[in-house]
Amino acid sequence: MIEGLPMAVPEPGLPARVRIHEVGPRDGLQNEKTVVPVEVKAEFIHRLAAAGLGTVEATSFVRPEWVPQLADAEQLVPMLDGVAARLPVLVPNARGLDRALALGIREIAVFGSATESFAKANLNRTVDESLEMFAPVVATAREAGVRVRGYLSMCFGDPWEGAVPIGQVVRVGRRLLDLGCDELSLGDTIGVATPGHVTALLTALNGAGLPTDRLAVHFHDTYGQALANTLAALRHGVTTVDASAGGLGGCPYARSATGNLATEDLVWMLDGLGIDTGVDLGLLTATSVWMADRLGRPSPSRTVRALSHQEP
Ligand code: MG
Repeated sequence: MIEGLPMAVPEPGLPARVRIHEVGPRDGLQNEKTVVPVEVKAEFIHRLAAAGLGTVEATSFVRPEWVPQLADAEQLVPMLDGVAARLPVLVPNARGLDRALALGIREIAVFGSATESFAKANLNRTVDESLEMFAPVVATAREAGVRVRGYLSMCFGDPWEGAVPIGQVVRVGRRLLDLGCDELSLGDTIGVATPGHVTALLTALNGAGLPTDRLAVHFHDTYGQALANTLAALRHGVTTVDASAGGLGGCPYARSATGNLATEDLVWMLDGLGIDTGVDLGLLTATSVWMADRLGRPSPSRTVRALSHQEP
């Protein structure tokens, strides 16, 4: 990295610290076609934590035949002993929760949808039916002292339904928190959000009694808007931001291959704003370059490309 860059120039009113919820090993790899050996996944997660990421979503306990890339969750989790990070896992249902709890998992996420079309496509259920499925999962997890994150996908647009009304997102988000989720992650699954829409949704959620400190944002860079949307969320007071190392993972429902906001691009902006993340951008970039070699293609992250191609 070029010494002293990016220059840290704080913007008044922004949070002093942001928690990055790293989703590369789960959301990223889930959408990669190349099946990655479990040893590589374990090393990836160890390296992400060593780069300073304090939360790394590790895998998913869906039925192995649904997501072959993540069919090795039972093998992977014991290989993460000693990782100094929170290691949440995705669980779709009560069976997935049982598998996760048997391995000593302390933090889970459930994956809901703001729209009927995506609930049907992803879960083969209506929104109501999916919430009924999550209810005992969340209740059992909380009884076990396990923290629960609720993902809410298609918060800004849906490939079948188009624009998603803010009131509809608020209603489903409210119900996920009422089930007992500790945190709600607002997903722009097809990357169509723009900053004013982000601010309007966050404001509406606050108006419905959902406090900003329980909200996280999950942006996709399909239309190049992810960092602009992140800045809008920071200005609103959001302090938890999802990102994927190296920009791993497209979205199978978006037309473009560009998917998750790259963690390196996010850290570059936050470093420039003087916002503490605890992440060492050099170590993180080296990890993503290493992972790109394993996958056999370059990282789509602008920051990874710039930092890995620059002359010493
Ligand atoms: Mg994503």
